[in-house]
This record gives sequence, C-alpha cells and structure tokens, in this order.
Amino acid sequence: MEALQDSLASMPVTALKGVGPKGAERLARLGIETVQDLLFHLPARYQDRTRIVPVGSLRPGDQAVVEVRVDHAEVRFGRRRSLLVQVSDGSGRLMLRFFHFTAAQKQTFVRGTRLRCFGEVRNGPLHLELVHPEYQRLGEDECAPVEEALTPIYPTTEGMHQLSWRDLTAKALALLEEGRGLQELLPAEVLERYDLPPLPTALALLHRPPPDVSTQLLSRQGHPAQRRLAFEELLAHQLSLRLLRARARGHAAPLVAAGECVLATRLLERLPFALTGAQRRVCDEIGADLGRGHPMLRLVQGDVGCGKTVVAAVAAAYLIEAGWQVAFMAPTELLAEQHRNNLRAWFEPLGIEIGWLSGRHKGRRREQILQRLAAGELSLVVGTHALFQDDVRFARLGMAIVDEQHRFGVHQRLALRNKGGETSPHQLIMTATPIPRTLAMTAYADLDLSVIDELPPGRTPVKTVVLSNERRAEIVARVGDNCRRGRQAYWVCTLIEESEALQCQAAEDTARTLAEALPGLRVGLLHGRMKPAEKEAVMQAFQAGETQLLVATTVIEVGVDVPNASLMIIENAERLGLAQLHQLRGRVGRGPTESHCVLMYHPPLGQVARERLDMLRASNDGFAIAQKDLELRGPGEVLGTRQTGEVQFRIADLVRDQALIPQVQRLADELLDNERLVRALIHRWLGERVDYAVV
Ligand code: ADP
Ligand code: MG
Repeated sequence: MEALQDSLASMPVTALKGVGPKGAERLARLGIETVQDLLFHLPARYQDRTRIVPVGSLRPGDQAVVEVRVDHAEVRFGRRRSLLVQVSDGSGRLMLRFFHFTAAQKQTFVRGTRLRCFGEVRNGPLHLELVHPEYQRLGEDECAPVEEALTPIYPTTEGMHQLSWRDLTAKALALLEEGRGLQELLPAEVLERYDLPPLPTALALLHRPPPDVSTQLLSRQGHPAQRRLAFEELLAHQLSLRLLRARARGHAAPLVAAGECVLATRLLERLPFALTGAQRRVCDEIGADLGRGHPMLRLVQGDVGCGKTVVAAVAAAYLIEAGWQVAFMAPTELLAEQHRNNLRAWFEPLGIEIGWLSGRHKGRRREQILQRLAAGELSLVVGTHALFQDDVRFARLGMAIVDEQHRFGVHQRLALRNKGGETSPHQLIMTATPIPRTLAMTAYADLDLSVIDELPPGRTPVKTVVLSNERRAEIVARVGDNCRRGRQAYWVCTLIEESEALQCQAAEDTARTLAEALPGLRVGLLHGRMKPAEKEAVMQAFQAGETQLLVATTVIEVGVDVPNASLMIIENAERLGLAQLHQLRGRVGRGPTESHCVLMYHPPLGQVARERLDMLRASNDGFAIAQKDLELRGPGEVLGTRQTGEVQFRIADLVRDQALIPQVQRLADELLDNERLVRALIHRWLGERVDYAVV
C-alpha cells in the first residue's frame, strides 16, 4: 500500500535557502522544524498595505498607507523633544511625530516633498497623527507599487524579523505551489459538504491574503480558510482517539452478566438510602458494557456529592461475584483511606475482604499484600498510585476503578491494560471535574461518557458570598458562631506561591491566629507536609466532630466527606480556578442544614476576577462553571495541567471552534475505516506524539 507522505513534512527548514544552523535553532524555539511546520505557523494578524488611503478618511486605530506632501516641519521642545511634520493630501491634514531623529532627517522634510507613509493612526492635539511611521520619499512623478497582498505579521521569537518570516514563508509557499509538498487529504466530497477550501489554497490565502479579504474577518478567525485548518486538525485528533478506542475495544475482557448479580443487590439492600435515578442509570450503562466481552472504557462525571463511590462499588460487585479482582485507585492517601472505609462498611458484612495498598506500606506488609493479590486471594483492593506499580501483579484483574481521573492521562490508562494478563481489565474512571461537553468529546474521545446529573435528595444548595479580606474579623466571628451552634467549618488557606512549605506555614499561622481569636474552639490543622498517619488522625477527629474548625491547604480538595460541616471559608479565592473553587465548595452542603461558602479576596479585584467569582456566587452547576472556566482560562485549567498536552493544538482552539466539533465527530465516524487516510491525517497533525506501540 502506498503511503500518503507529504514531502514538506519531512523537509527540514534548513533545506530552504537562507536558513542555516542559527536560523534553524531560532525556528526550533517555536517548534518549527520542517517546511510543513513553517506553513502551519500562521500570522497572528495582518496589515493592509495594498491601498493608499485618503487622509480625510482615516480613523484612530487604523493602520494605513497614505501618500502626502510635506507642508511644514519643526522641532518642538516640549516635555519631550520631537520632530513634527505636518503633511496633507488634499483630503485632509495629518501630523507625523518622531521622538528619535537626526538633523539630517529633519532636513529631508522640505515643504512640497512627496512621502509615502505607513503607521497606526492616533489622536493628536491638533490633527490625527502617525507616531514614528515607516516612510519613503517619492520622486515628483514616481508611482511606487503597493503590496499585492495583506501583510502578514507572524508570532515571532528573538532574532527573527517580520521580513525574515515573509521571506521564509514565501519560499515555502513556492514549494507548495509546485504541487510538491502537502497533499489534500480530505475527500473532495467532504470539502464540498462543509464548504471548505482545499489545504494549499487555505494556506496560501492565510499567508498572503488578497486585498479583498476582510482583515476583520481574519482577526476574528472567521475566514473559511482558518476554519478549514482548524477543522482538519480537530479531525486528526478525533481520529487518533477513535483509533485508540477501536484498538482497545478489540481486546478481550471479562464477560459478566451484571443483571443477575446477587452481591450488588445485597449491597444495595443494606444501604440506608436508595440510589437516585441517575445513579441507577449509570449502573445500568456499566452493566451493559460488561456484557460485551470487550473492555469497558467509561468516564463517569458527576458533580461533587452526587454519589459516585456507591456506583463504583456496585460495578465492583458485578466483577467480584463473577470471580474477578477489582483495583480501586484514588489520587491521594486521604481519599484512598476514605474509600477503603466506605468499601469496608459496605462489603465486609457481605463477606468480602478489602485489601489496602498505600505508598507507605513497605517491607513485609507490602510483600504480603502483593502475594495475596498475585494469588488471587483478595478480590478488592484500594490504594493510591502504588497500586499500579510494576511489581503489583494480579491473578485475575477484571476492573480498574480510578477516582478523580483528571490526574490520570491517556497513556496511564493504556498502561493499565497490561495489568490484566490475557484479558484487558475494564476501566471505570470517575471525575467530579465537570468537563464541558465539547471538551470532553475532544479530550476523552477514547472513553464513553456517563453523567450523574442528579444530587441525592435532601441537599440544600450552598449559599456563596464574595467578601473582601478587609472584613476578616466579621468572617472569623461568623465561624465562631457557626461552630457554637454545633456545626463544623473549613478554612482553606491558599497562597500564590507554589511552594508547599510556604502553604503549610500559612495554614499553621492561620490555625494559630484563629484559635487565639476564637478561644474555646477546637481547631484542627491539615496540610500536605504532615505524615499520612497524622493526616488520618486529623481527618478522623474532624469527621467524629472532635474538632470543629479544620484549617487546611487545598489538600482537602477532593472527596472528603463530613456532612456536619456547613461553612467553608476560602482565602485568596481570586487566585484559584473556578473548577477548583467549585470542588472545594463541594465539601459543604452534604447534609440537611443550609451551608455557606465565603470566597475571600484581596482588593482590588480586577474585572475578570470579579466576573469569575460572581459566576461562582450565582451558580451551583458544575458544568456551567466549567464552561465559564474554559472560556476564561482555557482547557488547561479545566483539565488540569497534566493533560493539557493531550489537547494542545497548533491552530484549532477548543473554545473558539466549539461549533465545529459535532461535524468533526460525524466525519470521524465516516472516515475511520479509511486506514490510509486516517494515518496520514494523524501523522500530519500529531506526528510522533501518538505512540501506537502501546496499543
Ligand atoms: P462523590 O460523587 O462526590 O464522590 P460520594 O460518593 O462521596 O460523592 O457521596 C457523597 C455522599 O452521599 C456520601 O455520604 C454517600 O454515602 C451519599 N450518597 C450517595 N448516594 C446517595 C443517595 N442515593 N442518597 C443519599 N445519599 C447518598
Ligand atoms: Mg468522590
């Protein structure tokens, strides 16, 4: 089979005349190594030097070419010495202003001299002005040509001038025009259906837009040529994830008849509550997956407190009864312990032992657990990342459950599969980070999605207020009040500094001052530098109501469940992402009493920060909040830094191009069988980033 290979994709930039090792090094700083990379490096904006604009029609903010005559030139000694050259063209007057100039330069501005100037128009004291315009003198009858295309302005790096960019891209475009280089990969019928220009046309247009193209449309990224490139890039990403998914689905996995599971039924019967409709639906979705004989890869999303753990327990029961082992992983020690306690309470009365493997198990204890897992004696084990280390072997791993997946990437998901031996384990991934649909469809196209979109009954929404740090005394009093009424409170300390040591210090200081300000109040302290046993003791004391106020760093972010806690104070809230704040807030509002959250900020609060905190005050809907976070801070914030790499695009922008995603999805379904095309697209846009060796 002939491979679809683009010659410009493998042609190094040094093949272009004028690019030596130094130049190549500069380009490499921007990730540009091949001629194809260069062509995908699109201008950030454009200038219109294709026409001469009458002075009378200039508006402040325009960038324009004018052709004028000098009326008068003089040096002014004001606050700053400047050379002012008054010019006109019959339609109006204009001032050229120079702060840096030579005497010789001044001499050239003789009355009547013809000039062609380019610059940005600003308001001046008398007339509109061009400050430090580019200019050239014209002879009396000279008719100098104007540019034939809009002038591209490229994102650049030190040592690379715009003229070099224009020169390099001109050479690359010439190669493209020869028809060597980049093939049109999208079928003609597809281009027609979505009204997209062919690739070489789109690239040529974006590097050298003809004069009739609207610079406004371009700057809004609304031109069909721009849409076309984003479309193809999104399609390539979508296809790569679909491919991973198809491959994963091709393996054999435990075949389980969930509908007949007695263990799950008994588990549910013993719970003090009934599952919500949403929980039942997701259990059914999982059950259906397990009956297919191929690995389930399912992401369960649900707002904090919606009850994901019990759904995971039901899923585990399906596998355990069928004789398989289940591994349940949490991102932190604290959370893993909480899961272990819950699962013990639910499963041990049914005669199922819960294994426990944490990072701090060393030596004999660890050996013993590893041995029992390898022998298949433990059917359910809970732990942290320690669970998936190389020396952990399972006799019959049937399912891996991963809680709070946003710290867990695609490649880790793939690696998990190898733990299963002959069959691949099912994977159930749970997150409380609501991921906006478009983003989820892009970042997690290799997973099936389930959403628990209903909270258990009897929860009252958390009331949120935004208060300045200047009202600290009032807030402290409120904490005291809350606790005297028998409730509990969290006080979350956050710092701008990344340093964990400083964060912990801040928490310690705050705990001390709060204890002094509220004598008689039992204050607990929790931070990342404490030993696991200490943390556990602190958490237990808080859970048992022995401490009333828990001062903590953001380590309490995920999962901690204390229904009696009804007040949360978050310091420096303006520094945190919306999704993170929402998660923190989710620690309260878990019981029947009305809960409150105070977002404290340091004034002054900027416009965007104000908007963000207002959003949180107005809404308790995690999905709406995440959508806003996506718009304000980009996908990296919503997904967590770890996975940003998986949704990094050269051209597409998940927020701007959201509307394309449904089309891209439909097309990906259609094209998936065309292996040659799929590989070529993936190779073009993702290159070596996709590691098919693991698949
Ligand atoms: P999350 O989805 O944030 O992980 P949890 O699984 O920790 O939520 O559940 C939060 C709390 O709600 C727990 O105390 C859990 O026992 C309880 N819970 C779960 N499902 C229900 C339900 N259907 N009705 C009442 N309480 C429930
Ligand atoms: Mg949870």
